[in-house]
Amino acid sequence: MSSKRLLLLIPTTSYRTEDFVDAARALDVDLVIASDRPNVMSGTFPDHLITLPLSDPATAVQEVRRLVERRSFDAVVPVDDLTTMAAAAICRDLGLRSSPVAAVGATRNKLAMRERLASTGVPAPGFVSFKVTDDPRAAARRVGYPCVLKPLVLSASRGVIRADDERGFVTAFERIVRILASPDVLELGDGVDEILVEDFIPGREVAVEGLLVAGEVHLLALFDKPDPLDGPFFEETIYVTPSRLPEGAQAVVLASTREAARALGLTEGPVHAELRIREDEGRLSAFMIEIAARSIGGLCSRTLTFGTGLSLEEIILRHALDLPIASLQREERAAGVMMIPIPRGGVLEEVEGLDAARAVPLVEDVVISMHKGQDVVPLPEGSRYLGFIFSRADTPARAEAALREAHRHLRFVIR
Ligand code: ADP
Repeated sequence: MSSKRLLLLIPTTSYRTEDFVDAARALDVDLVIASDRPNVMSGTFPDHLITLPLSDPATAVQEVRRLVERRSFDAVVPVDDLTTMAAAAICRDLGLRSSPVAAVGATRNKLAMRERLASTGVPAPGFVSFKVTDDPRAAARRVGYPCVLKPLVLSASRGVIRADDERGFVTAFERIVRILASPDVLELGDGVDEILVEDFIPGREVAVEGLLVAGEVHLLALFDKPDPLDGPFFEETIYVTPSRLPEGAQAVVLASTREAARALGLTEGPVHAELRIREDEGRLSAFMIEIAARSIGGLCSRTLTFGTGLSLEEIILRHALDLPIASLQREERAAGVMMIPIPRGGVLEEVEGLDAARAVPLVEDVVISMHKGQDVVPLPEGSRYLGFIFSRADTPARAEAALREAHRHLRFVIR
């Protein structure tokens, strides 16, 4: 068999399975998918659907060694945060293209990331950390306000809470302690016994999507987040690309991202960063809120198309497999996505207005990612998206307006 062999590590909770599998199919590779729980089809495709302990990299490495006795992989690609560590460990073992394990590890722990960045010139918030067993009242007296409290190892803003005073701090701290005690979080192991507290950085937020090749960050897309994210919870809503920021500000954002990737030691594969832009006495700086060794989350990558029509997933797979990539240039049109805000908690009974929302000019699709009967949990406890609206237009402003109009048509019946 001449085609290359690819191992995708996909957590069962991933939104990205379909997009990565489609990308792999387009590449004509021999695809093996590893998940953390057995798939109903595993019995039918035992060589292609396997189970690996994805949250236990050392054991995953051992199991993959047995798998490759007859034939090795040409690339091992993680899908989502949860599998980046296992992928880096397997890649090191098999000598495949990946960032070093230690660098990936630093992106998986917000305190480790802060500590690495603190010794560099990358603008970043001041921080301090506490044990979940510390007295929150005493902790509240040791920090400045406003501040942001957050877990070290969660994502999608889960458990991220702004506090403006000591009372708010204590409430937020106790709420995060409860989130960290939930079974799905305890499974994550390391880092669930600490809470990070950072200075709140005001300002506009942007997201960088990049691809690291031999230690260099290639910019794939810069997204504006036009809705203010001031807390107390930080629910993501709209992302629009290209950015409407002046070129100088964009350059500052890219410079911070490059410096942060270098500081952490990231060298290969996708990188996703969130930054806030601040202006002090006429001088712009881009504060690093978070940098991750993965691509953009949820279904948001569907906004991106490169060269003559490559998806972000195809770019990531081609890079990992060392296949040619014709262009990393994003298409010229503007594109936007709205992560549909969760209006309140309860059980999802009905979604109304879908046809009308889909019929809004410039709207490409509306995808509801929760099913009827599912528990809808708002932030800061929740971690699942209600759905996504996608648009494309000749300007970012039109792409954004179409998302907002489509959203106005939707009504979620939640009881
Ligand atoms: P997660 O990995 O769960 O998304 P982040 O650390 O990226 O957690 O925080 C989520 C969001 O919370 C950020 O995108 C940002 O809007 C807000 N946020 C987090 N930390 C700060 C901070 N220090 N100052 C201002 N906003 C913050």
